[in-house]
Amino acid sequence: MPDGRTHRAINILGSAVVFGVTWLTYGLHFAIITATAYLVGELWLSPDLDHRAGSDAYKRWWILAGIWLPYQAMHAHRRWLSHAPILGTLGRLVYLSWLVGAALLVMWWIGYRMPDIEPFWREGIAVLVGVELAAITHWIADWW
Ligand SMILES: [Zn+2]
Repeated sequence: MPDGRTHRAINILGSAVVFGVTWLTYGLHFAIITATAYLVGELWLSPDLDHRAGSDAYKRWWILAGIWLPYQAMHAHRRWLSHAPILGTLGRLVYLSWLVGAALLVMWWIGYRMPDIEPFWREGIAVLVGVELAAITHWIADWW
């Protein structure tokens, strides 16, 4: 079971691999997006957000860290619902969507209108792939 420092080192190395492979297969644009999402996937959206003592990812949320307290109350540390590939990532993104939804509601209320994001669906998939690859790497490191 690696500590936060080891997870971070694995993540930085993994992001270089993700960047290189994506660059060779899909080009620089998607390499930057996927590798950045991979870093964010471990540094801010880590499966260890379920850790009640406070993981490094939890602390990185700084003044917003409290938004993860209900998530921690709902998930025991290292259980399949928070750590399993795909399901764990999906759970964290769905959980986080209430905050994004609230922010969009406030922005809409003050007059901001969302631009059309449909043309960027490929970039959205690149983000999801990067975040999920980070979670899979984390899961493998946890159980190695
Ligand atoms: Zn973990």
